[in-house]
Amino acid sequence: MTTVSKQGLFPTSVVGSLPRPRWLIDAIQRHERGELSEGELKESYDDAVKLAIREQELTGVEELSDGEQRRFSFLAFVAERLPSFRLIPVKELMNRDAEKFVREMNLPIDIISNPVIVEKIRRSRPLAVDEVKFALKHTSKKVKAPIIGPYTLLINSWNKSKSGHVYKSPDEAFEDMARLLREEIMALREAGASFVQLDEPGIGNFCDYKYTSWLLALNGWKVSDMRELHKISAELINRTVKGIGGIKVGVHICRGNWPADEAHLSKGGYENMIDEIVELKVEQLVLEYATKRAGSFDAFEGDRWDGEVGLGVIDVKNPRVESPEEIVSRVEKAKDVFGLEKITLNPDCGFASGRPWPVVQRDVAYAKLRSQTEAARMLMKKYA
Ligand SMILES: [Zn+2]
Repeated sequence: MTTVSKQGLFPTSVVGSLPRPRWLIDAIQRHERGELSEGELKESYDDAVKLAIREQELTGVEELSDGEQRRFSFLAFVAERLPSFRLIPVKELMNRDAEKFVREMNLPIDIISNPVIVEKIRRSRPLAVDEVKFALKHTSKKVKAPIIGPYTLLINSWNKSKSGHVYKSPDEAFEDMARLLREEIMALREAGASFVQLDEPGIGNFCDYKYTSWLLALNGWKVSDMRELHKISAELINRTVKGIGGIKVGVHICRGNWPADEAHLSKGGYENMIDEIVELKVEQLVLEYATKRAGSFDAFEGDRWDGEVGLGVIDVKNPRVESPEEIVSRVEKAKDVFGLEKITLNPDCGFASGRPWPVVQRDVAYAKLRSQTEAARMLMKKYA
């Protein structure tokens, strides 16, 4: 599969999620109250995906996603599909150590549930294959498949009191976790996805360890040195992708994606985890860079990464729509570090990584993608 778009330079893409239409949220709530059948809800999901595809097409983006319309969140959807994981409200997992972080970080825990390991991890059903097959039926564009990465899934899902009877410690789950995602990547390749993106905000959280410390407390992990987690994250990803050919695989690293209040989000550049990042055996890094919280390009100076970069050029948390000129200047700042021919333009993250917390309105999200397309055209004119 070719890694260069038809137009060659400056391909455009998305990271994954798009805000759900109001009527979809209503349909889900009616289904929860027993007023809508499973079949009727499925029809709403199908309609929402077709709409998300059509709206993305209208923006001119070259590679699209199904907008993650069917998922509760980029992380929790695993528990919606596989019985090895159970969706447990974070409120039910709380302990005294974790309380401290909720207060300090002002975490909105009422709206989060984690997919917790409750049985041996097995891919008893596909995770995202059906999403990709459906999307490909409704577009002639390339379809990207964002799926959760092995490290972020593990640190959120291995909970000492709930998972300890299945795997005594997190490392006992490594092999099954890598196998689960590896099998999914191969199935996504067969389904025709253009790109499989492993979502790893857990790695982005290494920039200041705030969110990492909270998860360790919540899930009862014993870690004496945070560097151990860096090693685990790279090892898990490399084990997952080892030997897989015929499909582009990338890793998306961001600092989390919550509602408007950014105060509790991680802040800092890639310096802290650069040694592990450059060891990742993937073709593309999909990096957050439009937000100031992501720091500078310094960590990548000196040709530290020679693969592709999905450059975050759109701040998904700011409702102001960037002008194409502004986006062009973001790309130009990155070009000497990554190389123009290696850059794909994409937003920093998804626009609605969880159903309860769209970060911007739908019309704003699509206006931003239109601006991104225009910026790519301007760059083509100048450099191609
Ligand atoms: Zn993200």
